[in-house]
Amino acid sequence: MPRTPGAAVTARAPAKVNLLLEVGPRRDDGYHDIVTVFQALALAEDVTAERAAPGHGTTVRVRPRPGVDASAVPLDGTNLAVRAARLLAERTGVPDDVHLTIDKAVPVAGGMAGGSADAAAALVACDALWQTRLGLTALTELGAQLGSDVPFALHGRTAVGTGRGEQLAPVMTTARFSWVFVLAGDGLSTPAVYAELDRLRADRPGRLEEPRLDAVERALRSGDPLALGAALDNDLQEAALSLAPQLVATLEAGRAAGAAGAVVSGSGPTVALLATSPAHARELAAELGRDRPGGAVLVADAPAPGARVLEAVRAGGE
Ligand code: ATP
Repeated sequence: MPRTPGAAVTARAPAKVNLLLEVGPRRDDGYHDIVTVFQALALAEDVTAERAAPGHGTTVRVRPRPGVDASAVPLDGTNLAVRAARLLAERTGVPDDVHLTIDKAVPVAGGMAGGSADAAAALVACDALWQTRLGLTALTELGAQLGSDVPFALHGRTAVGTGRGEQLAPVMTTARFSWVFVLAGDGLSTPAVYAELDRLRADRPGRLEEPRLDAVERALRSGDPLALGAALDNDLQEAALSLAPQLVATLEAGRAAGAAGAVVSGSGPTVALLATSPAHARELAAELGRDRPGGAVLVADAPAPGARVLEAVRAGGE
């Protein structure tokens, strides 16, 4: 019997934290080679793809979770979820008639790859809605065209990323870690942070160093949050602090409150604090949140799975 095309599919994709972010010299194409260790968080975006009438094209709306300011998210063809749906339609030859709803839980422009998670969730949701059945490998290729962090949002868990971050190798670890994220009011643009790093590094090109990766991988294998806290490192931190000097105080407050490690998340301005247990994460969040009312501190366990279908509603409500 032919399958009934789905009427709506919801997919979930995780935000990430970089346990290590090493930035090499600027390449001729303007990108930087990086060596990073991503960890996916139990803090995720949900994207629902609903079948739309022929000729509708791709549209999007955003429903921010409480405490999330989504005013900077574009609602036109530059939205990463819209770009993902259109790219999948183009690649598979199906019409791109779909209405997308993003339930946004990840801070915007916070260095946690919320937009990349939207792209990954949209790829998975539309692949299921349209029954294009590309599978993870082909979706990952499309994801890499949309952004360097999209492949990781598709795969999740913990992985080493090389190239622009899109070439992934999973890290086998059974350990779980508890994170606290201290959000900043104004976002930082990733290209602006890389440009600032180039400026600061004018006479000392960046280096990708094997020992730093070894230290993070050893700490992940041991499962010891104190070892992982000591191994956290981010070459973009210097540039993020130069553009947002108030983050120095946030890092210091996190360390003073007893975090096992404190580092700027990705390109910032979010600060990631590693706790020693879920209960310790809640204590840290309460301590850091005291001066920051309004949901500016988040707690998330890790690692979490990559993009996946949560719910599919068949046409006619079957
Ligand atoms: P990264 O660390 O991957 O650079 P980020 O977490 O710092 O990303 P995002 O929230 O992913 O930042 O997005 C950064 C910018 O991308 C936003 O300021 C916005 O202009 C644009 N954008 C496009 N689509 C989206 C989307 N679906 N959600 C959020 N931002 C989007």
